[in-house]
Amino acid sequence: MPIPTPDEAAPMDPNQPENNVAEAIPEQTSAAAQAALLAGLAEIEADRARSAPTRRPVSPGLEDVLYTRFPVLDHGFVRVVDYMGDDAAVVQAARVSYGRGTKPLREDRGLIRYLMRHRHTTPFEMCELKLHVKLPIFVARQWIRHRMASVNEASARYSVLDREFYLPRAEDLAVQSKDNKQGRGEGLSAEAAARVLGLLRRDAMQVYDSYEQLIEGEGLARELARMDLSLNYYTQWYWKIDLHNLLHFLSLRMDSHAQLEIRVYADQIAALVEQWVPMCYEAFRDYRLGSVQLSAGALEAVRRMLRGEPTTAAEVGLSAREWRELMDVLQRPG
Ligand SMILES: Cc1cc2nc3c(=O)[nH]c(=O)nc-3n(C[C@H](O)[C@H](O)[C@H](O)COP(=O)(O)OP(=O)(O)OC[C@H]3O[C@@H](n4cnc5c(N)ncnc54)[C@H](O)[C@@H]3O)c2cc1C
Repeated sequence: MPIPTPDEAAPMDPNQPENNVAEAIPEQTSAAAQAALLAGLAEIEADRARSAPTRRPVSPGLEDVLYTRFPVLDHGFVRVVDYMGDDAAVVQAARVSYGRGTKPLREDRGLIRYLMRHRHTTPFEMCELKLHVKLPIFVARQWIRHRMASVNEASARYSVLDREFYLPRAEDLAVQSKDNKQGRGEGLSAEAAARVLGLLRRDAMQVYDSYEQLIEGEGLARELARMDLSLNYYTQWYWKIDLHNLLHFLSLRMDSHAQLEIRVYADQIAALVEQWVPMCYEAFRDYRLGSVQLSAGALEAVRRMLRGEPTTAAEVGLSAREWRELMDVLQRPG
């Protein structure tokens, strides 16, 4: 697939939210952060205007959005900086073939689905994605737990962080869930949400004022001053991961049990993966996202139900919770 020359390359559409400079700058962004953002967007445009012929496999879907900044949360974003491989690279590795092969696409799709279904994972490791991500520190703490990736984070020892902090949307504010210790329950009333947002904004502004005072007023080293900032301040990193581990990350972080603030990043990355390797993503959607794992006892219960035999949790060795979860999956009354 030839790469388009700069003349052929699609110009950036200013009506796309990620390309509209005015819309791309959230209200509370400081002047310094705004200037950095504008410079960054100009660099992205310059990168997108450049292209070179290559003999390497190219994913047309991902080429379309390469370098583009996709906004996530109030100040965050995800953008693809580089990638290696495509659907055909997975097939090629699985067959250990010399070339890109001549088999019909239908057979490639069937092979990819077979590999995904049977957890034959190494062919998926042949593809790599490199992302530039801007994310709140508390999200980064969850994200960094995914060890099978390479990370390089912006240094807050080397440079001063911007006055950029995450404030949830009022509709995402909720009380502590009563039945899920790691989750949210009922949404807050409009009045309570306004109070909470007021506190969060006040505190974030205050710690940044102190941060500036420590650096500029006291001459404190940046590596020490940064400890005063709160977890909702934004950081940035480059993150490179192979497709197998990326799909593992997505399966965990797109799940409803994951915190909303990391889930929105995972959802955005999933949309990019779908454009990059559509066949792999389709298989992932069918065999991972849209599937459940049944224990031996749960499978026995399903078999008995299909035979029309009434059964109980105790008969198949399931706990009350396992039984409830199985009935939820089967959409049957507990
Ligand atoms: C909803 C949710 C809630 C969570 N809650 C908590 C929590 O309360 N506390 C907490 O600490 N963490 C929590 N985590 C983090 C979780 O335990 C994992 O650390 C995280 O999801 C990364 O998964 P991973 O280790 O499979 O990924 P990776 O680190 O990317 O590893 C991928 C795979 O490589 C293998 N691997 C990598 N490193 C090693 C190793 N050193 N030894 C053996 N095998 C290895 C494993 O097979 C692993 O699955 C939570 C995660 C989720 C999604």
